[in-house]
Amino acid sequence: MTEQAFVIVGGGLAAAKGAEALRDQGYDGPLVLIGDEPDRPYERPPLSKDYLLGNAERDSAFVHDAGWYAEHDVDLRLGTTVVEIDPRTHTVVQDDGGTVRYAKLLLATGSSPRRLTIPGADAARVHYLRRLPDSDAIKATIASVRRLLVVGGGWIGLEVAAAARTSGVEVTIVEAQELPLLGPLGPELARVFADLHTEHGVTLRTGVGVERFTVDADGVSGAVLGDESRIEADAVVVGIGAAPNLQLAAAAGLRVHSGVVVDARLQSSDPDIVVAGDIAEADHPLLGPGIRVEHWANALNQPAVAASTMLGGDAVYDELPYFYTDQYDLGMEFFGLVTPDNYDDVVYRGVVAAREFVSFWLRDGRVVAGMNVNVWDIGDPIKALIRSGRPVDVARLTDVDVPLEQVAGT
Ligand SMILES: Cc1cc2nc3c(=O)[nH]c(=O)nc-3n(C[C@H](O)[C@H](O)[C@H](O)COP(=O)(O)OP(=O)(O)OC[C@H]3O[C@@H](n4cnc5c(N)ncnc54)[C@H](O)[C@@H]3O)c2cc1C
Repeated sequence: MTEQAFVIVGGGLAAAKGAEALRDQGYDGPLVLIGDEPDRPYERPPLSKDYLLGNAERDSAFVHDAGWYAEHDVDLRLGTTVVEIDPRTHTVVQDDGGTVRYAKLLLATGSSPRRLTIPGADAARVHYLRRLPDSDAIKATIASVRRLLVVGGGWIGLEVAAAARTSGVEVTIVEAQELPLLGPLGPELARVFADLHTEHGVTLRTGVGVERFTVDADGVSGAVLGDESRIEADAVVVGIGAAPNLQLAAAAGLRVHSGVVVDARLQSSDPDIVVAGDIAEADHPLLGPGIRVEHWANALNQPAVAASTMLGGDAVYDELPYFYTDQYDLGMEFFGLVTPDNYDDVVYRGVVAAREFVSFWLRDGRVVAGMNVNVWDIGDPIKALIRSGRPVDVARLTDVDVPLEQVAGT
């Protein structure tokens, strides 16, 4: 390959969408996508939802058909780890010794699950969930065990708990904070999810951590908590968050903070390296600097902007953070960002007890985030309310008889 390529490092959704966006935006030069997983890029949300529940086929998770990469002249290198990026020589080094020279590089290495290091954490039947084979293993576990311990009451822990309960497994969730989802939602809405799970028969142990796992000849047999109480379990799923894979970027000398620091065009501190997905810590035109979210929608939508930047364009990424979950009969979408100190009130439109409502997080009477629970097709006005930055009439906002479009002025 004499002409220098555009190279994509990472084999997830952001990488696949980057390849697609480059071809869509007219780039017809050599294009290499290097990912360390054996499977072609796929979407991860089904791994803790429909696929785990057995309601979706494996094939439905893939971003593109198997033939798409060849049809679009993408040199897809699976099962290949990039071990070094040398920005000085514009070279990528693979673990098989191969090298590729790049003109522009899209870095999309995503995240890895945070791991427990407590005694017993390496025992058999202690699972983490990031990849397709993890989901397969947990699916088989759910089908075969009586009692499952879930460590961590974040999104993945709760979704796995819901899948297991739906299959009739006895589930205990241990969450170190006072409520599950306290960080992403705050106490008001975290309570809704705590109630949802207890009503479905999950035993919720909060405000206490796991000290160690107990282990027998077959693997993990339970856990001892910080208060010395014991939980018996036939298997464990650990969902204590993910950490962005920043090693390559840091070693390449890119500016790294909680993610790889990029501007609103997703360009890193190196003019020939752009970044997308979980690892991008971006300047957001509306929300300010340092915005990094581990959301599917980011990985879906940022690559079009990254591709534009690679091609010399000036598009910026200004989408609002968006997240969704499905647990039991609760489906929700979340727009915006909630931190412990970015809101001073929460108001509701609809009936929380019936789990059919929209909640709004307000600061100084302005909407900073909105979440629709079992209410659909209102994402646009929720986003418009957040984007407007204007004080809102709370009486109208919370009145289900006033169309949200009217409140938002859309
Ligand atoms: C089980 C699960 C459920 C989820 N559900 C939701 C949801 O409901 N809603 C939502 O908004 N988000 C959800 N997410 C988060 C969402 O999936 C991520 O935000 C998204 O996958 C990020 O995409 P990415 O391409 O940036 O990174 P990743 O998906 O992590 O992909 C990065 C890829 O790069 C590879 N890689 C890393 N380093 C190298 C290297 N040196 N060389 C080669 N390859 C490398 C990795 O192995 C991986 O294949 C979920 C995540 C998980 C795990």
